[in-house]
Amino acid sequence: MPTDLNTVPRSTAPLRWPVEPAQGGWYTDAEHGAAHQVFAESADWRTGWRPEPYVSRFEEAFAAHAGAGFAVAFNSGGTALEMVLHDLQLAPGDEVISCALNFVGAHVAVIGQCGTLILAEPDPLSLNLDPSDTERVITPRTRVILLTHWNGMAADVRPFLDLAQRHPHPVHGPPLVIVDAARACGGTTPSGAPVGAEGWATIFSFETKKLMTTLGQGGMVTTNDPGLEERLRRLRTYGRSRHWGTNQLMTKAQAAVGLIQLARLDEMNDARIAQAHRRTTALADIPELTPPPVLHGRRHLYYRHNLLVPDTWAGAGRNDLMDVLAERYGLGSIVNDPPTYLGHDLVRHHTAGQRCPRAEQLAARLLCPCSHPQISRPEEEQINDAIRHATADVARSRG
Ligand SMILES: *Cc1c(COP(=O)(O)O)cnc(C)c1O
Repeated sequence: MPTDLNTVPRSTAPLRWPVEPAQGGWYTDAEHGAAHQVFAESADWRTGWRPEPYVSRFEEAFAAHAGAGFAVAFNSGGTALEMVLHDLQLAPGDEVISCALNFVGAHVAVIGQCGTLILAEPDPLSLNLDPSDTERVITPRTRVILLTHWNGMAADVRPFLDLAQRHPHPVHGPPLVIVDAARACGGTTPSGAPVGAEGWATIFSFETKKLMTTLGQGGMVTTNDPGLEERLRRLRTYGRSRHWGTNQLMTKAQAAVGLIQLARLDEMNDARIAQAHRRTTALADIPELTPPPVLHGRRHLYYRHNLLVPDTWAGAGRNDLMDVLAERYGLGSIVNDPPTYLGHDLVRHHTAGQRCPRAEQLAARLLCPCSHPQISRPEEEQINDAIRHATADVARSRG
């Protein structure tokens, strides 16, 4: 049963390197200075913690960086996605197509906003939503294609925009393409566009583990649709005395720090990419491990440096490797991520009857040993050696 294949080991060995880094983007004196300044300014009772002008300045800078007309800040990526979906007022039976290999939060948001979640397979190379499998499951009830740029590998948005045009909903027209770029901030898609410029709306997260972070939580939506921008602002601040809404504002301190993180984003991403390429090179001659693909014309930001073990190692062999890495070498690793319906009861119940065998098989072969751009060069080499030795140990024990 593939569900067993996707049961991930949880070693209790003390780790020298954790299963995943707790922080993605890191801070410098500039972020500390910005936070200090905001604290000092907010001490005045006439000013307090009012978000302006910081939030607007962060939104403008973010929209410019993402090549989008507008950006609207939120207190998290999850609420940002929920509000974009809320705007569509999905009715029971309205379908949202999304890749089965995903972050559960994205699928929980779809279910919470009344969408019927339709799962589709990943492309076996990029692990991004497969356009042809999306075409297989698209119907006249499809309202949204939710495309996630998986683990920093920017997907091509164009095939999904074409697909939407060819399969219009009878009432609402072509399904809308919503892009989840929580793990791809600062990326470029194969069309050459910045991540955030294509599709109806793109969602970003600045949670602590993401490529840039606004004090541990935060989110953003970019769009070229002025109507959506206006409605999102309303939703974010109690409907602005006319409609339903709630309070999901980003704080002034988050925005002030976000401005600095954004200015440093390319530098942080470059460091991450360089390190990932070093790991790929260091592991290149290990026959059992397939590193992330380097696809022509695509910039991978390596939010995760995912390795794939051979088919014959799927499940048990991969788990052995994770255990050996942890127990003998002190190196944590994680599966990013199993199909959402195997890891979350609500998603499993909601999608009962749907299965994505390709996603399950790929997930059973995935592991991501800990990586972070701030790991020193000597430690990087120790980690790469650990992966090499652990793989050889497992190969030997499997005969
Ligand atoms: C982190 C993440 C989210 C949600 O963002 P939060 O800010 O943590 O709510 C959504 N989708 C993906 C792919 C993510 O990695």
